[in-house]
Amino acid sequence: MLVAVIGVGTELTSGQIINRNSAWISKNLKDLGVPTSCHLVVPDDRALILDALRFCAERSDTLFVTGGLGPTTDDFTRELISEWSQLPLEFDQASWDHVNHRLSSRGIQVRESQRQQCLFPKGAKVLTNPEGTANAFQMRVFNKDVFVLPGPPSEIAAVWKGEISDFLRDKTKDIDQYITYSWDTMGLGESDVAHIAENALAGIEIEKGYRVHLPYVEVKISFLASEKEKLAPAISRLNEALKHITITRDGDDVPTLIANKLTGVPKLHIVDTLSGQVLLNRLVPALRSFMSEKAWSFSSTNNFHADPQSVKLVLKAWDATSAIAEIHYKGGSFKTIFEAPFMISKMTERKALYFAERAMIFWLQKLEDMI
Ligand code: ATP
Ligand code: MG
Repeated sequence: MLVAVIGVGTELTSGQIINRNSAWISKNLKDLGVPTSCHLVVPDDRALILDALRFCAERSDTLFVTGGLGPTTDDFTRELISEWSQLPLEFDQASWDHVNHRLSSRGIQVRESQRQQCLFPKGAKVLTNPEGTANAFQMRVFNKDVFVLPGPPSEIAAVWKGEISDFLRDKTKDIDQYITYSWDTMGLGESDVAHIAENALAGIEIEKGYRVHLPYVEVKISFLASEKEKLAPAISRLNEALKHITITRDGDDVPTLIANKLTGVPKLHIVDTLSGQVLLNRLVPALRSFMSEKAWSFSSTNNFHADPQSVKLVLKAWDATSAIAEIHYKGGSFKTIFEAPFMISKMTERKALYFAERAMIFWLQKLEDMI
């Protein structure tokens, strides 16, 4: 299987919104072992949509198209699919019932223009959209599987859950799966990390990648499941070589690991006199459910006395290039000082990121002992 994904929408090509759908689709396919040959984004323009279909069809055997299935005059993806495939559009009564039911149950008036959402190329299989009025569809044309999906990401996810994932599971059941391992390392620069990894993997054919996402450098390898046994010694060599700088593995996120540790804790107080919003920004997405269910506070001054049932986490400056992290819980306290590896005297974003991350790693280790 080789996939191409087309995003349709002037809001995408004009820069108003970012094309998230193609990335989401390719990520889901990659997890099933299916590679993507291209992403193409075109505005709501008939000639360009048609060009895109032809271009992508030449480079794939499975095509996903997102956007332009709605009721407005700038939504005409289905018409171009019909023109490209030479299959006339036919009205689908069940889809019209779906539109009527969805809108009238919400007290919204159904308009004639909504009828266009119920037209599908002859022979296409309609895929019900549980999150919106515009049903998706699937068809086989020119020996290719074509999926045409609405634009809103939540609607794509909802349609995907049912028939598309069943189709893909069946289609990929014999595929040699693609396996990815990753190491998030900290403390060395990208080229030093790459040097270590390249040495450990010298002479081995394997897909490698490096990515800086401060304060981490990620090392990533990918291979086919059928090669796992053969590659095992090289992979364990790499693992050993990276051990002293590895913070997390395979996409584990330190804030998420902290949030998991805090599930039984009733109260959390964070005092951060150092990083500005950096620490808070890192923690909030992972702590969302903690924050909506429990007591918590965040303070940028350290004049705060937490009761012993609370976990209190403190990050503050020690001097220009080092910081102190503390943790207090049920009468126990731990403290550590760490030095920034970057010789920058000002408090830069990069240093704040580093200190925040180091503090979280320290808190995580201590939470493992204390809770
Ligand atoms: P609707 O009935 O909502 O109009 P539609 O199928 O016509 O659905 P579009 O009009 O193309 O879809 O897009 C609707 C909205 O979905 C966009 O305004 C945008 O917020 C979101 N969207 C569309 N395409 C993408 C994309 N590729 N990535 C992320 N969001 C997208
Ligand atoms: Mg639309």
